[in-house]
Amino acid sequence: MPDRFWSKVAIRGIDDCWEWRAGRRPSGYGMFAHEGKIWGAHRFAFTLMIGEIPEGKFVCHTCDNPPCCNPGHLVPGTARENAHDAAAKHRLARSHEPGWDGLFQAITGKQLVSGGAWGPGVE
Ligand SMILES: [Zn+2]
Repeated sequence: MPDRFWSKVAIRGIDDCWEWRAGRRPSGYGMFAHEGKIWGAHRFAFTLMIGEIPEGKFVCHTCDNPPCCNPGHLVPGTARENAHDAAAKHRLARSHEPGWDGLFQAITGKQLVSGGAWGPGVE
């Protein structure tokens, strides 16, 4: 199932935006059907790689790019919170957390080459 999801995502470098390539809402958010529900693709990516979305929280983009599904660009926030403040706190931080490269490796089964770029075979 994760493969069915990630095959629709243009996976790039660890800090790049990974845009959803399948159906999108007019707002630009990706749509993914899973177990009879339509998910926001970025919400699905967050749930898959980071964990359950905290009750009452939205998944915000640190990159302001709605179709992006890079888990490193996704942070939980509330409607009341300024998404930009929440995002700024996390900006560029997550991809440098210990264990993060292992998480990315798990997505594609490919190893990250030094400098944070993907090895050959990943678009
Ligand atoms: Zn992004």
